[in-house]
Amino acid sequence: MTQTTSELEALLMQRSLTDAQLLAAAEASSDYRILPEASVIKVGGQSFIDRGRAAVFPLVEEIVAARKQHQLLIGTGAGTRARHLYSIAAGLGLPAGVLAQLGASVADQNAAILGQLFAKHGIPVVGGAGMSAVPLRLKEINAVIFSGMPPYGMWIRPAAEGVIPPYRTDAGCFLVAEQFGCKQMIYVKDEDGLYTANPKTSKGATLIPKISVEEMKAKGLQDSILEFPVLDLLKSARYVREVQVVNGLVPGNLTRALAGEHVGTIITAK
Ligand code: ADP
Ligand code: MG
Repeated sequence: MTQTTSELEALLMQRSLTDAQLLAAAEASSDYRILPEASVIKVGGQSFIDRGRAAVFPLVEEIVAARKQHQLLIGTGAGTRARHLYSIAAGLGLPAGVLAQLGASVADQNAAILGQLFAKHGIPVVGGAGMSAVPLRLKEINAVIFSGMPPYGMWIRPAAEGVIPPYRTDAGCFLVAEQFGCKQMIYVKDEDGLYTANPKTSKGATLIPKISVEEMKAKGLQDSILEFPVLDLLKSARYVREVQVVNGLVPGNLTRALAGEHVGTIITAK
């Protein structure tokens, strides 16, 4: 047993599990990335899959080609059907935990749809980013599809206000990338990146190629192209210290982003 482990063990027996010295000792061992070569891609729900074949078919082809060079974990968004469910459930006074389950069922639907489109290429849907299937699949075929909603369900921490689940598929995909220590996190959406205001409703909005979490908050953009809790997850992340949001409607963008090129907006932890 190393010095650190025995010190940590002694602390764990005696202290509160949030004791400062205990937390420092638990941090002391060196990092271990579980899937350091994998890239996580989130395919947007509302912004992408809901657009149907015009958007989805070219992206599927791009992903099939890209997985020859890259290990890919492909997460799905939820989108318009989830928003419809949220409006009904919230109108009925149901809590965030129920809405989280409903949203998850739509992300599952989108994973099932992508699963059919990728079937002939051998790319499977894996449950809950499940480790039982992921390592072998990644080694053999370089890609898996997972449902992007984090599985908090009834145990989701509700937002301060309202019943919309705060951790949805942007957060779910980020957490997969961070906890597996992945190489990068790319969000595939329908805009060139983050703008100074929502480009769908503000004509004069301009593109911001690179921005930090703090700058985003200072500009009041914390609740815009990504779910706001992602910014805090990114800020305190150990491995994934930046994410890129790209316009997947432009052919080649995802491929370039996977190769490390700057094609959309890069949001950095610092
Ligand atoms: P997804 O389906 O991937 O969850 P969303 O539709 O939730 O994507 O988020 C992407 C959308 O965010 C864009 O299509 C755009 O309409 C909107 N949006 C709001 N504010 C901004 C902004 N400042 N810059 C870019 N997009 C924005
Ligand atoms: Mg969204």
